[in-house]
Amino acid sequence: MTEIKSLLPEELKTGLTELGEPAFRAGQIFSWLHKGVSSFDEMTNLPLTLRQTLAERYLLTVPEIVRRQVSQADGTRKYLWRLTDGNCIESVLMRYHHGNTVCLSSQVGCRMGCVFCASAPMGHIRNLTPGEMLDQVLFTIRDSGETVSNLVLMGIGEPLDNYDNVMRFLHLVNRPGGLEIGMRHISLSTCGLPEGIDKLASERLQLTLSVSLHAPDDETRSRIMPVNRAVGVEKLFDACRRYFRTTGRRISYEYAMIDGVNDAAWQADLLAERLKGMPGHVNLIPLNNVPDSPLKPSRHTEDFRRRLERQGVTVTVRRRMGSDIDAACGQLRRHAMTGTTEKE
Ligand code: SAH
Repeated sequence: MTEIKSLLPEELKTGLTELGEPAFRAGQIFSWLHKGVSSFDEMTNLPLTLRQTLAERYLLTVPEIVRRQVSQADGTRKYLWRLTDGNCIESVLMRYHHGNTVCLSSQVGCRMGCVFCASAPMGHIRNLTPGEMLDQVLFTIRDSGETVSNLVLMGIGEPLDNYDNVMRFLHLVNRPGGLEIGMRHISLSTCGLPEGIDKLASERLQLTLSVSLHAPDDETRSRIMPVNRAVGVEKLFDACRRYFRTTGRRISYEYAMIDGVNDAAWQADLLAERLKGMPGHVNLIPLNNVPDSPLKPSRHTEDFRRRLERQGVTVTVRRRMGSDIDAACGQLRRHAMTGTTEKE
């Protein structure tokens, strides 16, 4: 059965025309779906017979909240959802002065295997559909009663490894009648797949591309991010340069500071060197706890930041949100399938 929330308005229109329904129904339905209804019966301005036909023809996905954790520190909310096939994923609502942000997952699991990431050990189970990505936003809004103005594709999964579904999701949230979240309010984070970056550049979207760099040299990067073994830092930066040339959008580079691994002065220098002539922004992230791992947070973040700044690099140090509920980067979905957390 077709998942109705994965359909764009024009596709809904075609479907309704086939049913002999007037085209304006598509707009009504699109708008109900994007309000986060959990059944066709909630679409009260549709004739009962049409609601029944839709229920027979289309699947309306409704993720179930398995667990909701609210941070005492900053009001960050983490949701564990159960999807229609029983798989679980997580999303996080972060509350900022400039507007609330949902950090959402793009896959069940991930095949990239970054050694510092809590989502890596369970591997890749399947891609999320566009509707399942949308659901994370819709049902976060519905449950929290908050408005959401920004989205970051930085949860579980590698968005460029689920390219077509992610693209469709971006169009869904952007369309009039839906959430209408502008591309400038969306960030997509990737471990750095050059082909995907080139493809994304060709779409010329106004979104912010974040590249999870974490090391400027191949030896270190390949050690902590297996994906680098096939690509290499040089090729990754070539793709970043092409992206900037095509889109004119500055890339943001994520860099989790790991003690004795990627926090040396020479690595700051090499990073500054590589970024020369390419406007970008480096986001230093305090490494979040990685259970069963020798990796520890760096003690040299401030030195590293200053060294980059002295060489003309724009740097910020990311504020940690929801750390009391393991909602921070790379912490999602550990034990999600059993529904327990480290702290329980
Ligand atoms: N696959 C995408 C998006 C998901 S990861 C990507 O690689 O960008 C979201 C971000 O969290 C990435 O920058 C990732 O490198 C970072 N991250 C993962 N584990 C982390 C940890 N333990 N501490 C800090 N950041 C981490």
